[in-house]
Amino acid sequence: MQTLRASGLRAAILYGGEPTLRPRVCRAADEIFDATLAFTNGTNGFPELHNGQWILSLDGPEDVNDAIRGSGTYKQAVQNLRHAGCPPIVHMTISRLNRNSIDDFVREILGLPIKGIGFSFLTPDVEESDEVALGLEERDKAVEELLRLRSRYGEKIGFTAAMARQLRSNGAFGQWNQYAKCPVTKRVRCYRSDGTRKACTYGNGADCSRCGCAAVTVFRGAFKPFNLETVRLILGLVFPGLMASGKQKGDLSHPKSKGTLETD
Ligand code: SF4
Repeated sequence: MQTLRASGLRAAILYGGEPTLRPRVCRAADEIFDATLAFTNGTNGFPELHNGQWILSLDGPEDVNDAIRGSGTYKQAVQNLRHAGCPPIVHMTISRLNRNSIDDFVREILGLPIKGIGFSFLTPDVEESDEVALGLEERDKAVEELLRLRSRYGEKIGFTAAMARQLRSNGAFGQWNQYAKCPVTKRVRCYRSDGTRKACTYGNGADCSRCGCAAVTVFRGAFKPFNLETVRLILGLVFPGLMASGKQKGDLSHPKSKGTLETD
């Protein structure tokens, strides 16, 4: 990491398996880079990061999440989340396993002390069928649902109209869904935990023609063309204090939601 920083890289993203199993690596990244985003399943808590932001991977309400991520993980993560020094951002990977739970999950999770919630769509490997990943038509419908949630609940829903355009099958999706055109792999260097390079965040076999990567969506949403609303979202990720600085909209109709949706 020190070599990478010396070569000019300023930010790190730590993810999968589970970065908190290697706390020294998390601490080192936090010290070496100007900004670190670390994805976790939340079961080991949220150790303090001085220049970083924890992203909590949850994939639905308790029953749905635990069917995907293992029994008891939701309760444990939520319990830890309530004691986190700095509220995490929640990230949901949408697939056929949780497609019908997005609304319920968002309502539930916005009642907890989080900075916001972001979404990816499951990106399958080339040889994988659409058994779990959404087909593009189904994904278009889910994209519209995310936009409805944003207009109902406000900026804590980290999904803008410009991002939606990047994912729609009749939008800009065809402009970047090939390896040679992927803006993220041009700018981001991806490594396995043993330090060897891999082609992209999803590994060497990812199917670009069905990519649902949030990083591509947010990057292109912000800059192709320039879109201030999405730039604000990126700034909120890199500088956590800025995240979701807008007012929360709507009545969440959730018993625990009152007073917990204030900005940080
Ligand atoms: S699968 Fe990987 S390389 Fe392909 S478009 Fe998505 S992020 Fe880029």
